[in-house]
Amino acid sequence: MTRIAVAGFQHETNTFAPQPTTWDLFEKRGAWPELTRGADLIDRFRGLNIPLSGFMAECRHDLVPLLWAGAEPGGYVAADAFDRIVGEIVAGVQAAAPDALYLDLHGAMVTRDAPDAEAEILARIRRAMGPDFPIAVSLDLHGNLSPAFFDAATVVTVYRTYPHTDMAETGARAARLLDAAMTRPVAKAFRQGGALIPITAQSTEFSPGAELYAALPGRDALSVDLASGFPPADIPDCGPSIFAYAETQEAADRAADETLAHLNAVEGAFDDRLLSAPDAVARAMAGPGPVVIADVQDNPGAGGTGETTGLLRALVEAQAPDAILSMLFDPAAAAAAHQAGLGAEIILPLGGHYTQYSQPLTAEVIVETLSDGRFRCTGPMFGGSDADMGPTACLRLKGTGIRVVVGSARAQNADQEFFRVVGLEPAEHAIVCVKSAIHFMADYKRIAPTILFAETPGANPCNLAAIPFTRLRSGIRLGPGGPMRG
Ligand SMILES: [Zn+2]
Repeated sequence: MTRIAVAGFQHETNTFAPQPTTWDLFEKRGAWPELTRGADLIDRFRGLNIPLSGFMAECRHDLVPLLWAGAEPGGYVAADAFDRIVGEIVAGVQAAAPDALYLDLHGAMVTRDAPDAEAEILARIRRAMGPDFPIAVSLDLHGNLSPAFFDAATVVTVYRTYPHTDMAETGARAARLLDAAMTRPVAKAFRQGGALIPITAQSTEFSPGAELYAALPGRDALSVDLASGFPPADIPDCGPSIFAYAETQEAADRAADETLAHLNAVEGAFDDRLLSAPDAVARAMAGPGPVVIADVQDNPGAGGTGETTGLLRALVEAQAPDAILSMLFDPAAAAAAHQAGLGAEIILPLGGHYTQYSQPLTAEVIVETLSDGRFRCTGPMFGGSDADMGPTACLRLKGTGIRVVVGSARAQNADQEFFRVVGLEPAEHAIVCVKSAIHFMADYKRIAPTILFAETPGANPCNLAAIPFTRLRSGIRLGPGGPMRG
């Protein structure tokens, strides 16, 4: 019987984000599961929209579950955390000596020593297992991949939706692709795109992302995929990449070239859809509600600090009569609310701890709800997954209809349960503000015909020409139609 080892190590690294990604963030549960090892993976990951879950459900061979670790996107992954997790994976594969390995990776992980962290992971496994050991990898649509990574992987497949409602489906596709690669030789081709694409322009909910990704399964190849890239990463291989696998080299090259030509042809149609925060609030106040405003540049799911106050300030200045915002990462405010108790009226500085982005907003608030911050997600992307935000509270700014959910873990609001955990029902409010860039759409578009993207302060800048890159490869352009680098 064929034995397949499975492991996952996911991180999307924003090299401009101020908070390092340390071992403890992988160990504890936030919006993603906590670090999980061995047989526990089979029970705990069953039925979740996680690539490893999809792979394990689809795989028809004996599984050797090793480990899965993931943390909220943020700054550089600490070297000791990287070495420890990769070390466990390598030791596990060596000890099990399976016939093949499946890896659930992100594709945009960076450490200070390894700008191309996924290539480094594969290099360490190859050193232990040799050049012919089959390794299948699934990647996030936001991966920034290099030729070295591509060369070291046997087969690669990538999410095809943003919001990523197909994470498990991608893992299942990796299982089928690995089967194909284990039964016959597969030719492969790799290409890199010529321009970075802003995060909010990449969504497959809109054109041209929708058509670009819909065209992939129709290409004449075993498999063709496109990673759109993750712009806030100051590394040489930042940007889109294409992976093609086919029976012949000619077919693989043709599928990769056709996909690159499609990407180039639609480049001018990518639109970041950003409005200023005051404009977004004014349009939302004109209704009809609920209108969702995405606090795009402070999206914790892209490494944002999750506590900038630009959008909150715009709501206050516009005197929005009914608005809710979740989740502001402010453990001190959450602790103060819990200490003061239900119904208490207290003066608090909210958010704004990273003053390079925004200042705290000091306000008199009423503590309306207290929670332990634990809930099960119910939306299409994270449904079934258990989240733990630590002490959480709903605070109403006194004399207004503005409510802020403060929590003790940094996480992207991609599920309506981020409001329901404190008793707020998003559909019942005129303006719903989420710290997310695109993923929230999977759950929130069902309740809101109007969705707006606000250009608020944060660590996930969408104006790519303003990012102080120093290490991009020569010739790549900063955004569709944007200036060329170096
Ligand atoms: Zn992603």
